[in-house]
Amino acid sequence: MKRILVIGGGASGMTAAIAAARSGAAVTILEHMDRIGKKILSTGNGKCNYTNRRQDLRCYRGEDPAFVLPVLRQFGFEETVAFFRELGIYPKERDGYFYPASEQAAAVLDVLRMELRRLDVRVVTGCEATAVRKLKNGCEVTTDRGSLRGDCCIFACGGRAFPKSGSDGSAFGLIERLGHSFVEMTPALVQLTAKQAFFKSIAGVRTDCRVVLLVDGTCICEDRGELQLTDCGISGIPVFQVSRFAAQALKRGQRVQAALDFVPYLEREPLYEELSRRFLQGEGKTAAEALVGLFSKKLIPLFLKQNGISLQEEAGKVPRERIQALGRYLKELVVDIADTKGFAAAQASAGGVRTEELCAETMESEIVPGIYFAGEVVDIDGICGGYNLQWAWSSGYVAGVHAAGDIRE
Ligand SMILES: Cc1cc2nc3c(=O)[nH]c(=O)nc-3n(C[C@H](O)[C@H](O)[C@H](O)COP(=O)(O)OP(=O)(O)OC[C@H]3O[C@@H](n4cnc5c(N)ncnc54)[C@H](O)[C@@H]3O)c2cc1C
Repeated sequence: MKRILVIGGGASGMTAAIAAARSGAAVTILEHMDRIGKKILSTGNGKCNYTNRRQDLRCYRGEDPAFVLPVLRQFGFEETVAFFRELGIYPKERDGYFYPASEQAAAVLDVLRMELRRLDVRVVTGCEATAVRKLKNGCEVTTDRGSLRGDCCIFACGGRAFPKSGSDGSAFGLIERLGHSFVEMTPALVQLTAKQAFFKSIAGVRTDCRVVLLVDGTCICEDRGELQLTDCGISGIPVFQVSRFAAQALKRGQRVQAALDFVPYLEREPLYEELSRRFLQGEGKTAAEALVGLFSKKLIPLFLKQNGISLQEEAGKVPRERIQALGRYLKELVVDIADTKGFAAAQASAGGVRTEELCAETMESEIVPGIYFAGEVVDIDGICGGYNLQWAWSSGYVAGVHAAGDIRE
């Protein structure tokens, strides 16, 4: 019977362990926290968005996003839904996003733990891997609680995001000592902080917005969705989607800005007509009152003041050129990005073990045979919407099956 050691009991480690055990291997998970799967409990605001019906290459990022294709071909969206359904998770779909019907992330963790128990997978918690050595036959993992020998070892130790759940990078040195190299890690799916001081006055507002990321003045990517304004910057899904590129550009010392379109549902001309109508026909209204119903009341003073319009000014007396300037401003408010909120607040990390050093068919190391990788430790990150967990389940399953030597196409 093959013995497999899995370092890390997160989403990818548990899936790898289940796949290896189902293929007949004796599996041990080594987890340095007091319990496995801590991060899963926080996913999807406690509801766990565990996959997404829409799957294409644009949903995955890294130096070589196409690395995911052979992995997803073996264990992709359909297999994931079937896997969890068999374990007890009845799927609930919302616009292609999948959640457990109970809407409890804890249910996802529970069914994984039940399956580990059914398969007799040994789970050792409070046990940190401190060294991995390749032996002539197999490998040895040293931990702070002694050494273990196995035929194969799977690194499923996560990235650097949300380190309080255990993914603290403590295994990266072990991986480097085996000869692997990393694409530098940055936070991904994270809030951005801005240099402008006005954010305190608009904190808490949520609004439909298009966010365009500019690096040294050039548009790098954009997204539209619910923008959340915080007391120091911008958050929400459209910000998360562009944040990894912001983090990388900041790291390179480039100028990073976000152009915010607060009226993404109107082109410039219809917006100007709407504003003109509101101001010029706003009989008896102040300038501030003329915008009620178009924007959150918290945003109106900022928008007017930034355009030299007094709040109490009679709406009908606001000059045309000021209305035009306001329209331009609303379509393109450029904010200077100072930083990200860092790994502590990030939902994922970009970067990781270089995919060119791994076999995409098996997740095995090309440098050290018998060593496998799964999940966020690899240089693949997904966009918001269930893709990071999909990558964890998929790469975990593929690593587990192949490490157990049960190669099925
Ligand atoms: C708040 C939040 C919400 C999220 N929501 C979603 C969502 O809804 N949908 C989605 O797709 N993705 C979501 N994600 C991302 C997703 O949870 C992660 O990408 C995924 O869990 C990564 O799985 P992993 O197994 O690679 O790593 P992790 O889950 O981080 O697991 C790694 C494990 O390895 C252990 N470990 C690390 N080093 C050692 C060591 N030296 N020895 C022993 N053990 C070690 C850690 O303690 C940890 O348990 C969210 C993330 C966060 C933080």
